[in-house]
Amino acid sequence: MPRRPDYPCAHQGCPRLVPVGQKYCEEHRKMHPEDSRSASARGYGRRWQKASKAFLASHPLCEECLKYGRYTKATVVDHIVPHRGDPKLFWDRNNWRALCKRCHDQKTGREDSSPYYTY
Ligand SMILES: [Zn+2]
Ligand SMILES: [Zn+2]
Repeated sequence: MPRRPDYPCAHQGCPRLVPVGQKYCEEHRKMHPEDSRSASARGYGRRWQKASKAFLASHPLCEECLKYGRYTKATVVDHIVPHRGDPKLFWDRNNWRALCKRCHDQKTGREDSSPYYTY
């Protein structure tokens, strides 16, 4: 079996090492039950879930739909400027906007293909 490096326990100040794929040592895992689900492994993690939920609570309508006079419930927080992994852009609330799933998917589809310019 190849040896993989261990990581320190994510609990503040805990010096114990835990195997790759786990966040906390035995003792601290019990103290963070919500983290044992692998949300962070799948995407942006708990911090983003919390932040985007709060953002949608104060921006309940899709901003793209609003431009056309449609009132659609927003379910996705979109980055106006694609963050491409840049944490500064990622966490900049001025770079966020509330979108419904349909508008978000449309935008994503467009950006994956060639650049699209509007004048
Ligand atoms: Zn620990
Ligand atoms: Zn929309």
